[in-house]
Amino acid sequence: MLEIAAIKRARGLAGYDAKREEEMLQSLTSSSSGPFGPADVKEIFKTIFRASLDLQNLERRKGMRVLRRDLVPESGFLVGDVPIGGPEPVLFVGPCSVETAEQIEAIAEFVARIPGPKILRAGAFKPRTNPYTFQGLREEGLRLLRHAADRHGLVVVTEVLDTATVDVVAEHADMLQIGARNMYNTELLKAVGRVGKPVLLKRAFMATLEELLLSAEYILAGGNDRVVLCERGIRTFERTTRFTLDIAAVPLLKQEVSLPVIVDLSHALGRKDIMLPCAKAALAVGANGLMIEIHDRPDQALSDGFQQFDLKEFAVFLDNLGHRAATVPEPALGGRNG
Ligand code: PEP
Ligand code: MN
Repeated sequence: MLEIAAIKRARGLAGYDAKREEEMLQSLTSSSSGPFGPADVKEIFKTIFRASLDLQNLERRKGMRVLRRDLVPESGFLVGDVPIGGPEPVLFVGPCSVETAEQIEAIAEFVARIPGPKILRAGAFKPRTNPYTFQGLREEGLRLLRHAADRHGLVVVTEVLDTATVDVVAEHADMLQIGARNMYNTELLKAVGRVGKPVLLKRAFMATLEELLLSAEYILAGGNDRVVLCERGIRTFERTTRFTLDIAAVPLLKQEVSLPVIVDLSHALGRKDIMLPCAKAALAVGANGLMIEIHDRPDQALSDGFQQFDLKEFAVFLDNLGHRAATVPEPALGGRNG
């Protein structure tokens, strides 16, 4: 039965064939002369067919590349020169959006002085819920981000919103971010699978972990194994946080896959006051990194100002997290704040 399924798959045919099942049931019920009536025979064989389909699905799942344990070396894989998925967690920090040359410069300068592995994050193409709010500086934002990162020797991740801009984003970024709203965009997943840059794949608000893994499979199937999964909160009835941080997603994903898993605390929580215990929780359950939004002037930010730490707050946060505590940077005096 599994062999027949394999041949069908190789020919691009579905394992389940409704017409063929109906024909077989017809033939079985009409030729049955035993103690069971046609309805019983039909029920028995439908159960057998269902079991055989479940078996085929199980086999197909086992063949998924995303489940392979050998995708990521012990030391992790490289995003630019930053290893992720290895022994040390990576900080993904930066503003929600690139806003001005001065803003991204001030933040990049600060981020570069944070000890340990880190990646500068900032959006140039912004997927805003409200069309009348700031949509990002687009190509100009990419240029400003690249420039600031290069000046400070940083690696950058930024979001790609559609297939039309994959090339220009890939040209400027070290890592491409697929946002929560695009996790189901299969054409975009295929497109980033063809680009030779690592991908940060965020979980959609309503996605099951299985769906997140299937989205990752789209990217891997395109020939790109450098995918980082990101838990960023899911939508529930709870309103005290922006989304609901699904902390169990981290160990559950890590049980299934060898890909690195990070937690975006800023978008999950939408508030700063409980960021520290939640960061500790994320690291305790095995997250390979944390994403946190920071801004040199959060009160003037063009997006997500309420959830972004200012630089001083973030230095204190890192200190409290025990992040290589003695060497957490003070924000520069002068700079934009001077
Ligand atoms: C972001 O990280 O900039 C962002 C928009 O996040 P999300 O896609 O998780 O909402
Ligand atoms: Mn944001």
